[in-house]
Amino acid sequence: VRARAAIDRHARMVADFPSPGISFKDLTPVLADADGLAAVVTALAESCAGADLIAGVDARGFLLGGAIARELGVGVVAVRKGGKLPPPVIGLDYDLEYGSARLEVPAAGLDLAGRSIAVVDDVLATGGTLVAAARLLQQAQAHVHGLAVIMELAELDGRGTLSAQLGTRVPVSG
Ligand code: IMP
Repeated sequence: VRARAAIDRHARMVADFPSPGISFKDLTPVLADADGLAAVVTALAESCAGADLIAGVDARGFLLGGAIARELGVGVVAVRKGGKLPPPVIGLDYDLEYGSARLEVPAAGLDLAGRSIAVVDDVLATGGTLVAAARLLQQAQAHVHGLAVIMELAELDGRGTLSAQLGTRVPVSG
């Protein structure tokens, strides 16, 4: 409830960004507000409880991931866009509406195999990004504990896409 109030109060809608006809939900002011950040992180941490590692999705998921992990007393890992991490990496290419993209996680220095990982991002739109992040972690032999976002754009039915692509054993909270 506190998180919803903070979102209602601070979120900014930006028309025609990043392309004409798209209404972009900018949560930057929510996170820049001390009470807003606390409310959002507390709510997401409740959703992620039980995971032994938090994965934040490039880039706004990074802002949340570290704070949630600290609240739960676990570690955090960045799921990065392609080409940002030093080798070796495990990567996954996935299709966007126009073109394709790639996500990567480290393949050395930490062992993702067997970890129970909660994936966090700011916004669930079509679900393509979270499907790719979850599949990437599964490819790294991790168990996806769940997916948590601040806001979902219900009209795009990302939740439906997630359960169709990942199965209902991966819980989604938003
Ligand atoms: P999806 O892959 O279509 O679900 O898009 C989700 C990704 O795009 C997330 O990483 C979001 O940060 C970003 N995104 C998509 N739409 C919005 C929006 O309206 N506001 C903020 N981020 C968005």
